[in-house]
Amino acid sequence: MKAAVLREVNTPLDVEEVSIADPGPREVVVRTGASGVCHSDLHFVEGLYATRFPVILGHEAAGTIEAVGELVDYVKPGDRVICCLSVFCGHCERCTEGRTVLCSRTGLTRGPDETPRLSSDGEAVTQFANLGSFAEYMLVHENSVVKIDRDVPFEQLALIGCGATTGLGAALNTAAVRPGSAVAVIGCGGVGLNAIQGAALAGALRIIAVDAVETKLTLAREFGATDVIDASSGDVASRVRDLTGGGVDYSFEAIGKKETAEQAFDMLRAGGTATVIGMIPQGTKIELDGPSFLREKRIQGSSMGSNHFRTDMPRYVEFYLQGRLKLDELVTQRIQLDQVNKAFEDMKEGSVARSVIVF
Ligand SMILES: [Zn+2]
Ligand SMILES: [Zn+2]
Repeated sequence: MKAAVLREVNTPLDVEEVSIADPGPREVVVRTGASGVCHSDLHFVEGLYATRFPVILGHEAAGTIEAVGELVDYVKPGDRVICCLSVFCGHCERCTEGRTVLCSRTGLTRGPDETPRLSSDGEAVTQFANLGSFAEYMLVHENSVVKIDRDVPFEQLALIGCGATTGLGAALNTAAVRPGSAVAVIGCGGVGLNAIQGAALAGALRIIAVDAVETKLTLAREFGATDVIDASSGDVASRVRDLTGGGVDYSFEAIGKKETAEQAFDMLRAGGTATVIGMIPQGTKIELDGPSFLREKRIQGSSMGSNHFRTDMPRYVEFYLQGRLKLDELVTQRIQLDQVNKAFEDMKEGSVARSVIVF
């Protein structure tokens, strides 16, 4: 099969031929229908997070089941699925207490003595996030997919696979935004826009979008923001406090930077909660105002929107079909696999909400 392979940090991905093994007992082969190009992929290209090389990036995908292992009964060939990097085992401590997104993830990949799932000239190829969707096919554990029996295009389903779920889930699951509350979202890319529409779905009264790019703020209003703040000048946290008469109940950081994580905490009112969604580079420390903890201000992380993707994702599909969730507007350009490097360039420029590779 053809796949875009990254062999070294800060080099272009190369579309080449990669061999794919037969599915093991609990594995499935997915024929990729569409894959979004997500900011997290770029973090690994740029070496802000470590991975093993060569690697096939891509983790925001949907497709069709092509083949299944002998023990798989959840899906069958021909089923349409969304893939999710939150693969779960179902029996570790976190899984059994209902937090599958924090699964210890043992026994879900192949061991070093087994035939690798993917290889190139006899060398094992890493699947990013156990998926590797910049490829025509993915060989994954059956607990990496959720069946979707509704007629929605792969591009939209792919976005639910990461960006939409990460943003919506941060608002609906991690922070559990309450009706009538005041919310601020820093960073209005794909994930931030979904945090905005998640807050709107939850009934937030005031949703303040913060970004330095004008077009993203315009989009933020369409996604439910009631106020926007241009972050290119001035003290963002104090402007949010001024707008709300003291701060917001919930803030969301959807960029992944020290400064914006600190801003998210600084813009809270007493009792407020900051949720950091962005991937802050490895080794980064953030600084917070200590006395704020006496006012019961909190800061927390959110992993993939604290999802239970097998129940969350079909619900997001229904919200979309009811017209209560925007996904079409997030697909800014459809591209081919060999244009993936261009998609990263566009992302760095900050002009594009989402490039989606269509197969
Ligand atoms: Zn992602
Ligand atoms: Zn588990």
